[in-house]
Amino acid sequence: MVKDVKGIAASDGIGIAPAYLLINPDLSFDKDKKITDADAEYARAEKAFSDASAELAKIKELASGRLDDEELQVFDAHMAILSDPELLGQVKDEITNNLSSAEVAVDKITTNFADMLAAIVDNKYMQERAADVKDVAKRVMSHLLGKELPNIAAIDKPVIIVTKEITPSDTSQMDAKYVKGIVTNFGGRTSHAAIMSRTLRIPAVVGTENITENVENGQKLIVDGLKGDVIVDPSADQVTEYEQNAEEFEKERAEWAKLVDAPSVSKDGQEFEIAANIGTPDDVDDAVKQGADGVGLFRSEFLYMGSDHMPTEDEQFAAYKKAIVGMKGKPVVVRTLDIGGDKPLDYLPLPEEMNPFLGYRAIRICLDRPEIFKTQLRALIRASEFGPLSIMFPMIGTLAELRAAKKIFAEAKAELQADHPGLGDDIKIGMMIEVPLAAINADKMAAEVDFFSIGTNDLIQYNFAADRGNDEVSYLYQPLNPAFLGLINHVIKAAHRHGTKAAMCGEMAGDELALPLLMGMGLDEYSMSASSILRTRSMMKDLDTADCAKLADEAMELDTNEEVAELVKKSLHID
Ligand code: PEP
Ligand code: MG
Repeated sequence: MVKDVKGIAASDGIGIAPAYLLINPDLSFDKDKKITDADAEYARAEKAFSDASAELAKIKELASGRLDDEELQVFDAHMAILSDPELLGQVKDEITNNLSSAEVAVDKITTNFADMLAAIVDNKYMQERAADVKDVAKRVMSHLLGKELPNIAAIDKPVIIVTKEITPSDTSQMDAKYVKGIVTNFGGRTSHAAIMSRTLRIPAVVGTENITENVENGQKLIVDGLKGDVIVDPSADQVTEYEQNAEEFEKERAEWAKLVDAPSVSKDGQEFEIAANIGTPDDVDDAVKQGADGVGLFRSEFLYMGSDHMPTEDEQFAAYKKAIVGMKGKPVVVRTLDIGGDKPLDYLPLPEEMNPFLGYRAIRICLDRPEIFKTQLRALIRASEFGPLSIMFPMIGTLAELRAAKKIFAEAKAELQADHPGLGDDIKIGMMIEVPLAAINADKMAAEVDFFSIGTNDLIQYNFAADRGNDEVSYLYQPLNPAFLGLINHVIKAAHRHGTKAAMCGEMAGDELALPLLMGMGLDEYSMSASSILRTRSMMKDLDTADCAKLADEAMELDTNEEVAELVKKSLHID
């Protein structure tokens, strides 16, 4: 029996609950079966339809507090299909005329119906209805076969979600009241799934490779998102031990919560900024609740990914304005479109690439398609009227790219200033340090921007030549590697030589072992998942910057990531 599964600690906290496998059951059936009692068979079909409908009504009710109206309407659409007398009538005819089983009849009739809808070319509405019919058919079939379909929105008791991979639509339906933990086969600490579980503050362990094969529905699990451990079928002693750990963690969290309005200062009184990374303007509320000193990274691509068309200037303006207004005078840094790589857009077909992470992405697309870029910049410049705004460009590698991006920004500003003199003049311009060449060339880069934001997720990926989403090479995610620390130190010092602010918005900024080192190097701003802000502020107030500087120097002299981890743990008195 599998006892412990090791994965990557992706979201802090400890969860204990039965497993809920988010995996579709096998819905295959005997396609040649003939029946003898058509009335009884039809009664089975009728019951499956009404049970499916009742189930949908229940899921809708459970989800009503969480999902928006548009999302809830999907349930109504599915119930409408089930109550269509024509559909059930055809199922009845198929059973009576051909002595088909209810499964065969439902499959045949719904497939014909979906195919007919899908055949209406160029009609997106009909294509979606066809998908609805297929979804409904699956639900009816699950009732006929007596198998349960997983459904996140219907969860109404504590569970640990066990799945191969978690998608944004899965997380949007999750209720943190019931979902006590998430365990996945795939993903790394910087995968977007991991980032989302931190936003929801659900303990998570990702990249276990095979948890779905080792756990059954209902089996008790402990998820330790602090260490990356999953215990299957824990003993009573283990449950007690982890319950205590969870309690201690909650106590610690309550202590941190007291710092929500406190400044981010070191023990010796040096001020820093601890900001939040957000994906949509809706995340601003949480950032404020967690006491963020600002938004250090607004991943604007989520606006594009959440839309079925290229967002217009006005749509973008509304979103940026909402974020800026929501931060109530605290600064907001919006990163311009970072699409491509692992983030595709349905409505912007990109070429098939052998190495998408090294290909046509982010600023490279924006410079090649200035009309897309300028629309975004115009929306941002207009929104800057409502509060302090900074704009930064992702994936800059060369000075030429930086200058080209700034030129398009200047053009957009000049266009808007024709009617609104001075508009956008207060916007600060920065760039992300994600490409090794930009880090090496930090002195020249710093002379041309107001701030740097070090994107360690990509900077590590490119420096170690290790795909950030590939579990096989996740051992190369080494933010504490002395050579890498040397590079970070070089970037921070180069920024400061030019009076440029040095920020960091990759996951390393919220890493507790990295914190003293980064403070020692003089990093000005730390932008992270909102859930990590208060813990970081609490650690910061106990750290002395002179001690940190010594520790950073010592760390850079060492040889390995592990040696640095040991050194920092010793200095922080953690085991
Ligand atoms: C990064 O690369 O560190 C970063 C913050 O950007 P993203 O994770 O969105 O690629
Ligand atoms: Mg990046």
